[in-house]
Formats: sequence, C-alpha cells, structure tokens
Amino acid sequence: MLLLSLFIFSNVLAKDEELINPCAKESVPLNNVLSHKSILLNNRVEINNTEMFLVSYLDNRGDVCYDKKYDVFFNISAGAYAFDTNTDTYKDIIKNTRFALHKAKLNGKNRFEFFDKADYANYIKRLEIQGELRSSVNDNFKGFELFYQPIVDADTGRIEGAEALLRWKSDQYGFMSPVEFIPLLEESSLIIPLGRWIIDTAAAQCNEWVKIIPQFVMHINLSFVQIAKSNVIKDVIENINKYEAGNEHFVFEITESIQMDSNIAIKRVLKEFVDNGFLLAIDDFGTGYSNFEYMKDKMFGILKIDRAFITDIHLTDNNRILVSFIIKMAHEMGVKICVEGVETKDELMAVTKLEADYIQGYYYGKPVKDVEFCRMIKQQERIKR
Ligand code: C2E
Ligand code: CA
Ligand code: CA
Repeated sequence: MLLLSLFIFSNVLAKDEELINPCAKESVPLNNVLSHKSILLNNRVEINNTEMFLVSYLDNRGDVCYDKKYDVFFNISAGAYAFDTNTDTYKDIIKNTRFALHKAKLNGKNRFEFFDKADYANYIKRLEIQGELRSSVNDNFKGFELFYQPIVDADTGRIEGAEALLRWKSDQYGFMSPVEFIPLLEESSLIIPLGRWIIDTAAAQCNEWVKIIPQFVMHINLSFVQIAKSNVIKDVIENINKYEAGNEHFVFEITESIQMDSNIAIKRVLKEFVDNGFLLAIDDFGTGYSNFEYMKDKMFGILKIDRAFITDIHLTDNNRILVSFIIKMAHEMGVKICVEGVETKDELMAVTKLEADYIQGYYYGKPVKDVEFCRMIKQQERIKR
C-alpha cells in the first residue's frame, strides 16, 4: 500500500494547527518527535490532492500575522514522501520526508517539495565530497595544487603575470572541476584555511618568478566567504610579508555577488587592500547583475571581461560593441582591462583592436603546473636577450 508521509514546518507555531487541520482530516498524527514544529502525518488521502492543496494553500496565504507588538513574517514549508508499506522502513520514511522538507526550506520556504531520489543521491554525494575536502584540508592540504595560467601584455604578447587556479584530486572521484568543489569549500567555510594556503603558495611562487620577470604580477582569487567571514587582509599581509616581492606584485580577483552589493563592511575590507598597495580586479565582469556599483567606488584597478563576451567576438557584433564600450569606459576611469577566454587568433585580433590591456586564454596557454609555467617564462626571457 502506498501512503504519504508529510512534514510541515512553520516559523509561527500557532499556525501549524491551522494549516494541518484541513489537510489532515483523514490522517492520524503519528508523532512530532523531530521538532515541535514538524509533524508527521500518516496520510491516506490521494497524493495528488494533497499536493494541490498544499501548493494552493502556500500560494494564497498572506505572509504577515500580527503578534503582539511586532509584525511576524509567517512562512510555511512542507515536504512529503510517498512510501510503500512493504519496502520502506520507518527510518527511510523519516529520513526521506525530512529531506523533502529540508529542500523546501532551502529553495526559499513557503513551498512544498516531494522527495526526489536523484536529488537525494546528489545531496549525499555533495556531503561525501565535503567530507573528503575536510580530510584533505586537515591532512596538510593533501591533494590540493595550484596551477598557473599566463596573463599576457596585449601590446608585446609577452607573459607579465599569472592567475593561480586551484586544483584538487578526490580519492573517490578523481580530478574535479573547481566550479564543482569551490562552492562546497565555501559552504563549509573550509575556503578560509585553504585560502591562507593558496595565498602562501602563490606568494612563494610569485617571489621566485619576479626574479625572472621583474614586473611579474600574481593574480589570486578571493572568495566572498574569505572576505566576509575571516580577517582576510591580515592573512594576506602575513603571508605575503614572508617573501621579498612587494605588495604591488599581487592582484586579488573578486567576483561580484549579491551579498557584496552595497555592503559597507565589505567595502571597508576592500579599501584596506587598496591602502596596502595591492591591486583589486573585478572577475567575470558582465556576468553579474550590478558590476557598475563597483566601478563607481574606484577601488578596482583591473576589470576582467568574462569569456562569454569573448567567444566568437569577431563574429558577434553585439559582443564586440559591448566589449568596446566597456573598455572605453574603463580606460576613461583609469582602469585596465584583461580579457578572459581568448582561444583563437581571430578572437585575439578582435580584442587587440579594441585595445584590451591584458589577454588570458587558451590561445596563450592553459593553466599548468608551477614547473611547467617556470619553464615557459624562462624560455620567453631567454629569447628576449
Ligand atoms: P575564474 O577565476 O574565472 O578562472 C578562469 C577560468 O577560466 C579557469 O577555470 C580557466 O582554466 C578557464 N579558462 C581560462 N582561459 C580559458 C579559455 O580560453 N577557454 C576556456 N574554455 N576556459 C578558459 P578553472 O581553473 O576551472 O576555474 C574555474 C573557477 O573556479 C574560477 O573561475 C574561479 O572562480 C574558481 N577558482 C579557481 N581557483 C580558485 C581559487 O584559488 N580560489 C577561489 N576562490 N576560486 C577559485
Ligand atoms: Ca579569476
Ligand atoms: Ca574570470
């Protein structure tokens, strides 16, 4: 027999009854062990009807209820799992219904979610990866490595710097893209201790490469979490001061995010970077929603135009016009431009014509290991002499 297990959560306890009573006419509350606001119903009503009821209930209710002196914003979330009395254990039912409720809350509350097997498998995989990341960080950053991608001066075509890019090999899943594992490091705040290691490793490397190319500049990515939740400027100064290369040899790349917008505390941290002689770059320019907010504060010396605008730029009028406008605007404000993701000669010619200052992309080189990068710049400097 197929039954429906339902957890409902509201932030206003008194409202639970009001919601549950109408949809639970035929159901028997089994227990409320999970928390005083979660209720498990053993519901024999039609699954589709229950879903329709909850969706319309959640859609139609006003979300403010007046409670004594204050307005209380009322929200309610529900998760359900259709279970089979022959195969599912009590533990499965609790676990899966709880997961569905968790998803409803995670997806913005005031909503209803059914348990989804694929979603659950994905969630478990993320937890496993996060566990592995934690072990790697605790085991002296085992499995982490920095790769370096050349950043080339657009006028001379010569390497003038590098972007340090994190790599990680998971024991279970092998090499994984940073796009996949960095959000997990951020979620768990592991990016804070790892960020210190990144800054230290990249600074040590930069110190060596300045000896080969005196004007060499190392670009280091900073996560919003490092800026918001740690004393990042202290970490940066402590690690960089260990080496001879001055602060002017470092660029910190920051991707704009909703949380950063108009955040005064964050702006104060960014200003400390500038006051200490570091350069700041806005990363992935054009993909966010309010990049111009940052431009007006004059804290960023470099703007990195995202690959999305550069791919096939020689064939796409709109992208060319946009990039040309961004470059002109930046130059008038004294900001340098680095274009990302240049892969072909045609793209290179198009962006050079638009007077970009720096080029980064597979055309000049993919991110490589430190030894390989060192070999590249030594060879470049040999040819120069
Ligand atoms: P990002 O900062 O925008 O870095 C540039 C990404 O574009 C890198 O991907 C690089 O390999 C890739 N790329 C560069 N040129 C080309 C090209 O011509 N074609 C194509 N298709 N791709 C190109 P990667 O290394 O996979 O890194 C992805 C993202 O992960 C980075 O994007 C950055 O947001 C994040 N990330 C990487 N390392 C770190 C780190 O040390 N700290 C933090 N917080 N984030 C990092
Ligand atoms: Ca970057
Ligand atoms: Ca970028």
